[in-house]
Amino acid sequence: MVKIGVLICDRNRKCTGNKCFRAITEREGMFSLYPADEKIEVVGWMTCGGCPGERLEFAPADMKKYGADAIYLASCYLAGYPACPYIEDHKDYIENVVGLPVVIGTHPMPQNYVDAHQTIGDWKRDHVEEYVKPLISDPKASQKYDSTRPNYLKDESSEKMVD
Ligand code: SF4
Repeated sequence: MVKIGVLICDRNRKCTGNKCFRAITEREGMFSLYPADEKIEVVGWMTCGGCPGERLEFAPADMKKYGADAIYLASCYLAGYPACPYIEDHKDYIENVVGLPVVIGTHPMPQNYVDAHQTIGDWKRDHVEEYVKPLISDPKASQKYDSTRPNYLKDESSEKMVD
């Protein structure tokens, strides 16, 4: 079993977490690295607190106290425009001060965000392409997580997904 904590971007502070939890359940996005039979327990879930990371010094340390083996910076860190400019700061603090490994990204990047960012070109401009890469490596998964699609959640089987 692995225990994780998840930090989300405060711009998404009212997010229900549905895509992250779905990715955990379905072993997609950054959770595809775990075998289906390995339990993933979320010991903490909260926003960073707002720029530049008001709760950065509290939340990951608290998650560690409750057993977190790693901290995930959710895909919303990269999905919003612009991508979080403090990713490196958050990663460095958590890894070097809190003492936990950091994984950047959770669920596959939804296609609507992929389209917007590719139109603008900011992922490249802001040097976050390396972090985005594993989240856009499966085009079907990006389609599946695009909640702007009219048939979102109606064609749940990935086998039924249109190309
Ligand atoms: S610091 Fe980054 S993750 Fe936190 S609110 Fe600002 S942009 Fe979002």
